Amino acid sequence: MKALIIRQPGGLQNTRIEEVENPESSVVIRVTHAGLNPVDINVMLGKVNYNIAPYPHIPGAEFVGVVESAASSKKFKAGDRVAIYPRIYDGTCERCKDGMEELCRSGGIFGVGCNGGFSEFFGTDEFHLELLPNSMSFEDAVSIAVGGLTAYHALKRAGLKRGDRLLVIGASGNTGWYSMILGNLLGARVYYVSRKKVPVESGISEWKNEKVDVIVNSIGSEAWDPYMDYLDTNGRIVTFGTLTGKDAKLNLAQLYTGERSVIGSTGGSRKEFSELIKLVSENQIKPRLWKTYDLKDYEKAIADYGNREGRIILKVTDP
Ligand SMILES: [Zn+2]
Repeated sequence: MKALIIRQPGGLQNTRIEEVENPESSVVIRVTHAGLNPVDINVMLGKVNYNIAPYPHIPGAEFVGVVESAASSKKFKAGDRVAIYPRIYDGTCERCKDGMEELCRSGGIFGVGCNGGFSEFFGTDEFHLELLPNSMSFEDAVSIAVGGLTAYHALKRAGLKRGDRLLVIGASGNTGWYSMILGNLLGARVYYVSRKKVPVESGISEWKNEKVDVIVNSIGSEAWDPYMDYLDTNGRIVTFGTLTGKDAKLNLAQLYTGERSVIGSTGGSRKEFSELIKLVSENQIKPRLWKTYDLKDYEKAIADYGNREGRIILKVTDP
């Protein structure tokens, strides 16, 4: 099969499309589409804080496809359309038993701690797969596992409830966009801040210094100080990104006198992944697609990443 291979750490000069052996696994997926996310770009550019394994390495944290073979599976058969839960987890540690697979003691992310989906075929176990509804296109499904799930989990971690006022900072990004759309769907009053123009729907409006109950900060330092004064008592700020820096000041008096909470969030659980596919399907949520590149044009896709106005996805094989 063809795969995007990183031969050794050190950037794109060590990355190319190569012919490699097909995977052998209890379930083999033919990958049709993959999302291009910051994590994938950082892996390819060698700009990561985490350990990449194995080498040669196939990146790709977010992908969907068609089951090619599933001889020992009772749940899936060849031809099924599936999405892949992007976290490595063992299902046996205390975090997994508590339904927090994203924090698995021996966990990691596909395309980082093990090979990912920037390849024609991907081998895995059936418990990593979720069946896609027939009504959902691969293009609509491919963004759920990283952008969608990160946003959904963050809103859950923040205890967002109907009627809450939600402020999403960085609303034009993929996770920010899902935070707005899902927050609206969950009954919050949604406000947003964005440098780029964001198409909005009813129930979502530009923030004009209103006090809020929940802040979603997906961009890091820059979105911290100026907004904390607008977090109402019992407010929760949830964060999962550090694009503009990872340091922030915290006024402890403001925190405890108003019983405010600072919450970290990463990825999402296996159960939330199933819930979210159902939610997206039932409400026909369509991500903002911007451009689709063939996998072989990955360098163009990376070069275009900073200009994007919506999602960039990679087409790996024909659906
Ligand atoms: Zn575990």
